[in-house]
Amino acid sequence: PDLIDIRDVDKTFGNGTVAVRDMSLGIKQGEFVSFLGPSGCGKSTALKMIAGLLSVSGGKITVNGHPAGQSSDGNDIGFVFQEATLMPWANVYENVYLPLKLHGLSKSEARERVEEALSMVGLANFAKSYPRELSGGMRMRVSIARAMVTRPKLLLMDEPFAALDEMTRAKLNDEVLALWEKHGLTVIFVTHSVFESVYLSSRVVVMAARPGRVVHDIPLSGGYPRN
Ligand code: ADP
Ligand code: ADP
Repeated sequence: PDLIDIRDVDKTFGNGTVAVRDMSLGIKQGEFVSFLGPSGCGKSTALKMIAGLLSVSGGKITVNGHPAGQSSDGNDIGFVFQEATLMPWANVYENVYLPLKLHGLSKSEARERVEEALSMVGLANFAKSYPRELSGGMRMRVSIARAMVTRPKLLLMDEPFAALDEMTRAKLNDEVLALWEKHGLTVIFVTHSVFESVYLSSRVVVMAARPGRVVHDIPLSGGYPRN
């Protein structure tokens, strides 16, 4: 069965804006899928509904057999937002530790997890730094570490690198691919970059605005740069 099942989903916001219409999609464990489309086509709304951060207006989304937002372990989804959204008054360690706060881990277990997550993104030596002391790319790596610290199987990324320069962006793309391969993740990556979607994913779901519909669902068999 699919890890994520999206059936006949609509989303109308309180102000009447139709953001997603009639979306149906199955995503298998281990896929790297991108949602591609122009600004305002509903990519971010779709992603947030999968994460359970927004409710659906119609239809149904299940993740691992549970309604979105009600998984047995609420922390098995990692979410990376467009901006790094770090707490400026807390150091890198504390920022990454945050999602573990409600996890009931012992101090030493939590420390192990945070150190593991920081190593994943090459920032093991920056635990005591503050966000303002880091470059934009490093702040984004902290944000990825924070998403990975609960050891999620599903990683949702909402135009994560849009604000970064192209070199940093290219590096981070490769780092995300490496994480995906190494940890057997399922990734959904929202972007408006055709290049990024083709470079990263093995399947491109194209959405169009007015109102947010899926207009293409393209498998990239043997997709660059893998296989
Ligand atoms: P949901 O179905 O997830 O509850 P709603 O449409 O009810 O979504 O809106 C969720 C929250 O977002 C509400 O508190 C609403 O007031 C708020 N909201 C509505 N429109 C906007 C907007 N344009 N920008 C930010 N927040 C909004
Ligand atoms: P994308 O991620 O593709 O840029 P979004 O999912 O952010 O698109 O937005 C889809 C549509 O829904 C847009 O028209 C946007 O203005 C609208 N929208 C997004 N969030 C809200 C909200 N909270 N309340 C009302 N309208 C919203």
